[in-house]
Amino acid sequence: MILTFPHMGNMYIALRVLLEALGRSYIVPPLPSKRTLELGVRYSPETACLPLKINLGDFIEALDHGADTVLVIGGGGPCRFGYYGIIQEQILRDLGYDVTFYYFSQDTKEDFVEMFRHISRGKSLLTIWRAFKFGLRKLSAIEHIEELTRRTRPVCKDPPTLERLQEKYLRAIDDAGGYLRVFALERRARREFASMPKRELPEGEPLRVGVVGELYVVLERFVNFDLERRLGHMGVLVTRPVSLSAWLHHKMTVGGASEEDTREAAKAYAGEYLAYDAGGESLVTVGQTVRLAKKGYDGIVHLMPFTCMPEIVAQNILTRVSEELKIPVLTLIFDEHTGEAGILTRLEAFVDLMARKHARVALQHR
Ligand code: SF4
Repeated sequence: MILTFPHMGNMYIALRVLLEALGRSYIVPPLPSKRTLELGVRYSPETACLPLKINLGDFIEALDHGADTVLVIGGGGPCRFGYYGIIQEQILRDLGYDVTFYYFSQDTKEDFVEMFRHISRGKSLLTIWRAFKFGLRKLSAIEHIEELTRRTRPVCKDPPTLERLQEKYLRAIDDAGGYLRVFALERRARREFASMPKRELPEGEPLRVGVVGELYVVLERFVNFDLERRLGHMGVLVTRPVSLSAWLHHKMTVGGASEEDTREAAKAYAGEYLAYDAGGESLVTVGQTVRLAKKGYDGIVHLMPFTCMPEIVAQNILTRVSEELKIPVLTLIFDEHTGEAGILTRLEAFVDLMARKHARVALQHR
């Protein structure tokens, strides 16, 4: 049995730890590409959301490389997410693949543990727990490196070297065999990122922007055209409260999410704007927009797949949040027809608008 799983940002680094410790063979799907998208789009229902299509492309590529078993998250709604796996399994079988799907229910912590027990073929709970803890530790280190990169980008004099530095540390964390090595890498990364040559920004301080939205399009660089990197190199300091750690904290009360990135914090900030969880990341989108607006951020970039029900709910509420809390919000919608040039043009115009507003407010305070 050779396992595979959906690609989403750098998640594979943490999942790889888990599967290796559980003694399972696996294939990491190739990085999503135009071909992945084309395969997914060709065989998916037209109205399915983009993550379903690209993940289907991931699975086809991994199955063609020899995988025969797919791990997916299943479980309840309220959106279509719970049905992804079932639909993908049916499509792959219709295409002639002899594939087995394992569904992780996302409903309770016990469901996750049961699933790990199943795929580990009877490994002890202690072994599973140790593997899981080390996977979480690597996940937190990955997110730490991503955060260092985000903070350095707006003031970095040498963007290509910075991007290479990030890749170097992500690879090293992927290869790290124990806690001490991961810890040492993080310490060294902090020093190396801090010593990158800095440039002076014309306005002194970078613009501060929050990136929120549906988990997959926020985390997967291929889908969002590497939006965080582009904003960073336009001199924007990006805060991204959406992360896999925050999601795991919400689902299993584990993971290294900071207090203010948790679902509870988002719910408290969302307050009367959204009093219940409308699914996906909708509560986080609204709550974090309110939090960042109150902290004086210059703007919010909201990312969502076309027809994503929870984010459509959030999008409508963000119109009111934007008006009442005086924070500009740019919603970008992604599907297979979304073009890079269009996204870039809108991003540049948005940054321009925020910069002018920032300068006006600074003048008024002189
Ligand atoms: S959150 Fe949105 S994109 Fe994700 S499965 Fe639900 S409807 Fe689709």
